Amino acid sequence: MTESHQNYIGGEWVSGASTSLDVNPSDLSDVIGEYDRADADQATRAIAAAKEASVAWGHSTIQDRFDLLDGIGTALLSRSEELGTLLTREEGKVLRDGVGEVLRAGRIFKFFAGEALRVSGEKLSSVRPGVEVEVSREPLGVVGIITPWNFPIAIPAWKIAPALAYGNAVVFKPADLVPATAWALARIIADFNPPPGVFNLVMGRGSVVGESILKSPGINGISFTGSLETGRHVAMSAVERMAKFQLEMGGKNPLVILDDADLDIAVECAYQGSFEQTGQRCTATSRIIATPGIHDHFVEALVERVKGATVGDALQPDTDIGPVVDESQFEQDLRYIEIGQGEGANLLYGGRPLVRITRGHYFEPAIFTDVHNDMRVAREEIFGPIVTIIRAASFEESLTVANDTQFGLVAGVVTTSLKYASAFRRESQAGMVMVNLPTAGVDYHVPFGGRKASSHGPREQGSYAAEFYTTVKTGYTRP
Ligand code: NAD
Repeated sequence: MTESHQNYIGGEWVSGASTSLDVNPSDLSDVIGEYDRADADQATRAIAAAKEASVAWGHSTIQDRFDLLDGIGTALLSRSEELGTLLTREEGKVLRDGVGEVLRAGRIFKFFAGEALRVSGEKLSSVRPGVEVEVSREPLGVVGIITPWNFPIAIPAWKIAPALAYGNAVVFKPADLVPATAWALARIIADFNPPPGVFNLVMGRGSVVGESILKSPGINGISFTGSLETGRHVAMSAVERMAKFQLEMGGKNPLVILDDADLDIAVECAYQGSFEQTGQRCTATSRIIATPGIHDHFVEALVERVKGATVGDALQPDTDIGPVVDESQFEQDLRYIEIGQGEGANLLYGGRPLVRITRGHYFEPAIFTDVHNDMRVAREEIFGPIVTIIRAASFEESLTVANDTQFGLVAGVVTTSLKYASAFRRESQAGMVMVNLPTAGVDYHVPFGGRKASSHGPREQGSYAAEFYTTVKTGYTRP
């Protein structure tokens, strides 16, 4: 008999209209639990509860908000091993990354506890005599938060924490594949007794719960992270009823390796960015662009590095790369191996299903060489442990290839030249640029986000988060 996990609506734990089973991708016989799924009526109830609570929460003291967020942060930090293990069991990233993600979530809550104390405005002179001008920030009201499966606690944290810090009520819809971590986070938040309706958890289908959030006039702002396809739909729905929205979507992130690069740094950046967390990161490296003087040595060394990596059960301490998250993503990875071969790329290494002691979605990390930037494997987001390597004749050509994509989340360069590092940072059309660092791996106190089809709307994280979670009022007074 599996324990049931309910939704949290208006300060009450409420049974769903149906349930789903959450399964460990490292061991398909391991059922993590049964999780309730809300229907459209329950989603509507959650939105109504949030609406009702939003006025008082918007007027709550910054001390109340600080105390709530700081308490949640402390709880997450103190339970990082336990929650990290749950996250790893559910999503399949290795244990150190699961624990690391929970620690990050805890730190994010603490950061925004501090930000709640620092909400500020401006007082300016008027161009008219005897008039004062004051610019202040106010909450949006109710924020709908829709998140993907690949960072089951960090992404919810970097949306929920600022939403609450700036005085908004929250309706949180996690991805269907990772209800356990979302539920554990909701449980922690609920245990701090925020006023009923200030925080609501509605697990369930995107097509049901997600759609209710998109369509409801009770939602004032939508913060979405997920695929480009869903993001486009979120944008259209939000524009239809003039709700504020913010989108973080896919990537096809380039890592440029120049002739003068330190080979060890180049290989480590490429390996970590492409294959850690099974390549299932929006910031993963998926196109490596190498110049002729280093290309062959680099490719050889990268293959050796990948051969030395252990693919296996994410909970085992010697595992470097966990399984793919589910069957449909696994099939997508296999399909892209066929697509790449079909369009003439050279599958130099990997790309096969792997058998392990437990039945899971194990995939051999794959390296394609002789890739052209116009091939589908170089243009479409694969979201798996598959990297493509493209040759470029010069720094200038590698920069052009790096920018030649519909996406613009993050871009990296490995070089010992200050001139090329500076030029790359300046000319890259990505929202985040890395020099001698993997494309994946960011700080939590600075803005996160991209350009082009990777992001839309204000940046997330750091003090920039205020741009989305507040609205500005300009007040004129003749005293
Ligand atoms: P997805 O678009 O399938 O789902 C994202 C969320 O949207 C889920 O909660 C899903 O249930 C919900 N959803 C689906 N249909 C909906 C609808 N009609 N209305 C409302 N909500 C709906 O994405 P995914 O597969 O969960 O995540 C992988 C994607 O997320 C990748 O493209 C990845 O690049 C992207 N991602 C981006 C970032 C970033 O910050 N840029 C971070 C992590 C992941």
